[in-house]
Amino acid sequence: MEKQGSPLPLDARSADGSSGQRILVVEDDPLLATVIAETLRDLGYVVDILADGNAVAEHVRRKPPLAVLLDLGLPGRDGFSVCRELRTFSTVPLIMVTARSDSIDRMHGLDIGADDYLCKPFEPGELAARLRALLRRTRQWQSTSEHAPLHIDAATMQVSVHGVPVVLTPIEFRLLHTLATHPGRVYSRAQLLDSIYNADHVVNDRTVDSHIKNLRRKLVDAGLEDPLGAVYGVGYRFLM
Ligand code: CA
Repeated sequence: MEKQGSPLPLDARSADGSSGQRILVVEDDPLLATVIAETLRDLGYVVDILADGNAVAEHVRRKPPLAVLLDLGLPGRDGFSVCRELRTFSTVPLIMVTARSDSIDRMHGLDIGADDYLCKPFEPGELAARLRALLRRTRQWQSTSEHAPLHIDAATMQVSVHGVPVVLTPIEFRLLHTLATHPGRVYSRAQLLDSIYNADHVVNDRTVDSHIKNLRRKLVDAGLEDPLGAVYGVGYRFLM
C-alpha cells in the first residue's frame, strides 16, 4: 500500500485542507442552530448547518468536517439513525445533542458511535469545552498513530503493518476500525456486532470472538504485537 493514506481519523481532513476547521451542525430548530453556529464561529470555526437528517451523510462525504454536532430529534430521520449511517464510513468526531434527559438515550447514542453528548439547554461554554476536549482526544490519537506500526486507511479500507499490506475481510476491517478509533475504550460484543453488521442482522455474540481471533492472527503474523485486548466477561479493547 502507498504511504500517502493518512492515519485515522482520515475523514476529519479534507483533500485540499480547506475544510479542516469546518464543523457541521445538524439542528432543525433555526434559533438554536444560529446560537450554536455563533458560538462556534466565535471560536474560529467555519460552520455548516443542516436541518434535515437525510442530508447529513452526503454532506460529510462531500465536505468532511472536523466534527459533527448532531441533534437527536430531527424531522424524517432521527439522530440515532443518522449516526449509525455515518459510522458505516466515517470516524468523524461526533457530539449528540439531545433534548431528552433520558439516560437511556444518552447511553444508546454512545453505544452506536457518538463520542459525547450534550443535553439541551446547554451553555455556549459547555459546548466549547466538550468540543475542545473531543478534538484534543482526536488529535492525540492522530499524532500517536502517525508513527505507529499499524496503519489503517478508512477511505480505502486498507490496513498495513510496518508498511506491508494485511488483507482483511470487510468485517475484520470494521472490527479493527471500530476498536482502533477509540484506543482503550471497552466495547461489548453487542456493540461490536452493531458496528460490523446491519442492525437487523441476527448473529450470535460469539461470532465476534471468532472474527477477533482471525483478525488477531493476521495482525500478529504480520509482525504486530497483539493490539486486541480481551476484557473478561465484557468484550474487547484496542491496546495501542
Ligand atoms: Ca430537534
